[in-house]
Order: sequence, then C-alpha cells, then structure tokens
Amino acid sequence: PQPVLAVVGRPNVGKSTLVNRIIGRREAVVQDVPGVTRDRVAYDALWNGRKFTVVDTGGWEPDAVGLQASVAAQAELAMATADVILLVVDGSVGATSTEEAVAKVLRRSKKPVILCASKVDDDRLMADIASLWSLGLGEPFPVSGLHGRGSGDLLDVILERL
Ligand code: GDP
Ligand code: MG
Repeated sequence: PQPVLAVVGRPNVGKSTLVNRIIGRREAVVQDVPGVTRDRVAYDALWNGRKFTVVDTGGWEPDAVGLQASVAAQAELAMATADVILLVVDGSVGATSTEEAVAKVLRRSKKPVILCASKVDDDRLMADIASLWSLGLGEPFPVSGLHGRGSGDLLDVILERL
C-alpha cells in the first residue's frame, strides 16, 4: 500500500485548496463556508516519481464550542491512520488556542508531523510565520495553495518523511 499523508487543521485554513495543489487537480471541495468538506476524502498523489495517498479531513463540522475537541479528534484519527501528518495553520491568522491544543496532541505522536503556514501568497506574511515555531512542531513551511508558492518545497519535505 502507498504511504498516507493526512492533512489536518481548523476549518477554512486552506486544507482542501492545498490538497488540490498537491494532487494537481481540482477535486477537493473548496468553499468559503467553514467546515464544508463533509468527509475525509483520499486522493492519489505523485511527486518526483513517488506515489502516495493524501487524505483531506474536515468532516467533523465543529461548532464554535466544540472546535478544539473536534480538531484534536481529527488529529488523533490522523495519527492512527496516516504515516505523516500535515498540520495546516492559516499564516494570515497565526496560531490560535485551537492550534495550540492540537499541537499538544500531535507532539505526542510517533509519526512525523509537518507544520505548514497556508495562504502565504507573497512575502508580506513571511515575518509573521516565524511565530509558529512556538507550536513546538519544528519549522513552519510557508505555502500558498492558491498560487502554488512553496508547494514544491513542501512536497519535497513530505516525501523525505513519508
Ligand atoms: P479548508 O476548510 O481548510 O479545506 O479550506 P479551503 O481550502 O476550503 O479554503 C477556505 C478559504 O480560504 C477559501 O475561500 C479559499 O479560497 C481560501 N484560501 C485557501 N488557500 C488559500 C491561499 O493559499 N491563499 C489565499 N489568499 N486564500 C486561500
Ligand atoms: Mg476542506
């Protein structure tokens, strides 16, 4: 079986847009409404001649109260089923208490965790994303799923750890 990358994070941070970029198609559901991706969906991906599976998550439909627990549950499931976990944090927002909670869960994982800052469309957010080191998950990799900026470098890192 192919190695599995699970993409986790709060609703609306750009997970599905990034998944589309990774798979090179426009299949993952992207919408302005938070939590629109109903279920976990798996896609085949290919990078530098290596095949892997990408799981887009987000079907937990958290309400405002349950968001933290819901994203933590999403992370727990990803840890159980994936080979590598990609935590997506909106680079234009920074880490919220939800990400701090989920990072705490992910730091316990024996599986590799990659941290990426999404929506970094240009240089303006580059200084801000350094603050994401505080999550204790290593280097935050900047990426724009929309424009593709940084996605090649991110994919290289993903393949190193798969
Ligand atoms: P998800 O809920 O985490 O899967 O997020 P989506 O991929 O559905 O994106 C949520 C919103 O953020 C949509 O309006 C996207 O167009 C927007 N978005 C996603 N990626 C980017 C990006 O790289 N740059 C910018 N500026 N907006 C983005
Ligand atoms: Mg989605």
